[in-house]
Amino acid sequence: MNIIQKIKDAKLTGRGGAGFPTWQKWEAVKNAPGEKKYIIVNGSEGEPGVLKDGFILENYPEELINGVKVALETFENSEAYIYLRKDYYDKYKSKLVELSRDFSITLTREPGGYLCGEESTLIESIEGNRFEPRDKPPFPTEKGLFGMPTLVNNLETFYWISKIAKDEYHSNRFYSLSGDIANPGVFEFSEDLSIEKILKETNNFPEKEFFVQVGGGASGIILTREELENKVTGAGAIIVYDKEKTDPKALMKKWIDFYFNENCGKCVPCREGVYRIKELLENDNLDLEKLKDIVFVLEETSFCPLGKGVAMPFEGFLGKIY
Ligand code: SF4
Repeated sequence: MNIIQKIKDAKLTGRGGAGFPTWQKWEAVKNAPGEKKYIIVNGSEGEPGVLKDGFILENYPEELINGVKVALETFENSEAYIYLRKDYYDKYKSKLVELSRDFSITLTREPGGYLCGEESTLIESIEGNRFEPRDKPPFPTEKGLFGMPTLVNNLETFYWISKIAKDEYHSNRFYSLSGDIANPGVFEFSEDLSIEKILKETNNFPEKEFFVQVGGGASGIILTREELENKVTGAGAIIVYDKEKTDPKALMKKWIDFYFNENCGKCVPCREGVYRIKELLENDNLDLEKLKDIVFVLEETSFCPLGKGVAMPFEGFLGKIY
């Protein structure tokens, strides 16, 4: 059986956050016309609370390289880039170079920040251009790096590709657990496990009142204790907040400072909206209605997922916690 069919049968979805069916990207690149094909491993991992790619680099670099080799064998005349955030590149470069020396694999040190994890911005940065997202379509699978069909998958996704190729995939994923818990870390469980079960299995279920942020520490959604039957979404993070200890305004400021520092300034809704939210949060009397309005505009009109992502924690937090 060919690998794309195996990925399809395994129902593997991208582990970077968007959860797109992996086989569709692979098939699109396979069928796209182009004298050359590019494969990019996205190891940008810039969202707070998400640690799984670093965990894989530390513990299973051979599986990652094997996943990339599977892709190189699948796409004719292809070349791969492993794109890593700065500290991962510095720490794991020699190991990865040693493992990949007989293959067309280039290691790249991410030049920018969180936005470079967005696939078209990542491509712009490898080409040496300004770090900004591109218009889509065309999608990278049709016209990506240097104008050629390009597969961009998250680093963890390549780990599971290796497992699928060896018939060792059992619908698991990696979860990054942090916050007000006893045993933070990265854990592997079935992707079907509920948040409650994961917290209990890892001896992290808090005794005090709490809420969680699920997905990532910036764009993750907020869920209450009563909503823990849900599965984990996004990049697989669970961040636990002790309700008593958490200052709501400080938490919102933390989120917005992240977006303030990481947005690229290309579109007005995100650039100005984030600035206005920051201003509102610095005021002693928080204008909640205005805050909700700006969050809504950001979600509806921002150019790329970074700006739209601002709404994710605010919507649940303002409705359920604050
Ligand atoms: S949404 Fe934000 S990060 Fe995305 S293009 Fe607009 S300004 Fe840049």
